[in-house]
Amino acid sequence: MPELPEVETIARQLRPALVGRTIVSANVRWARTIAMPSARKFGNDVKGQRITEVARRAKFLVLKLQGPEDSRSKTYSILIHLRMSGDLSIRDSKIKPDKHDRLIFLLSSPSKAAEGESSLVFNDTRKFGRVWLTDDLQSVLGGLGPEPFSDEFTPEWLYTNLHARHRLLKPLLLDQSFLAGLGNIYTDEALHMAKLHPLAASDSIKRKQAEVLHEAIRAVLQEGIRRNGASIDWVYRGGEYQNYFRVYDRTNRPCIVCGRKIQKLVVGQRGTHICPHCQKLR
Ligand SMILES: [Zn+2]
Repeated sequence: MPELPEVETIARQLRPALVGRTIVSANVRWARTIAMPSARKFGNDVKGQRITEVARRAKFLVLKLQGPEDSRSKTYSILIHLRMSGDLSIRDSKIKPDKHDRLIFLLSSPSKAAEGESSLVFNDTRKFGRVWLTDDLQSVLGGLGPEPFSDEFTPEWLYTNLHARHRLLKPLLLDQSFLAGLGNIYTDEALHMAKLHPLAASDSIKRKQAEVLHEAIRAVLQEGIRRNGASIDWVYRGGEYQNYFRVYDRTNRPCIVCGRKIQKLVVGQRGTHICPHCQKLR
């Protein structure tokens, strides 16, 4: 599943192609892709809206919209969560849809001189991806924890909030209401960098360890973004962070710090990779 660095990469790649374009129409090819409102209302309401911004919040892509000039209608946003297999691409509108295309936005030409129209296509083999249209971002995003690169996320915040709960460290870091954007890959990577065991109790983490974990979370996400994300079990994006994994997907291979074998365990039903020597459970 794409995590913060992958969704950020997609937002950066789509931004130049989408900002300023108007949605001519939306073809909902699988109604359950639309989480809110109904598929029919979605199609009606996005028509004529201009995309003013392509942003990311947690693992959501956010397309901010502006209605036609003369309307005093509300300001809407389209939110997209790719989940397991969702993919977004820009395509020539003359190309025949694929059977896994769930939603196709027909976009206006970027300029009068440009030929033809193009489409923004949401393709999703496994059908877990969802799309929202709302004038109230908080109704969808309101429950999320802070962004790892925000000013709110400080070492002190992390220490205080780890101690406000009694949870296992890895499941807590995966919890989007605690901290937004981390998934299985980057959590394993950050915990290894910070030399912390995924099964440690959140309120057992010392102040210094919280500082190191804070730095590790930012470091692995930053590196993931720099490598355009990791291309692994989801649609290929040209990311190459998978070539730089410390522990993820490296079972039985040597730890880059101590040389001992990486182990795979299951934590909260998620495959979890650790170095048992560097990440001791105390
Ligand atoms: Zn090690």
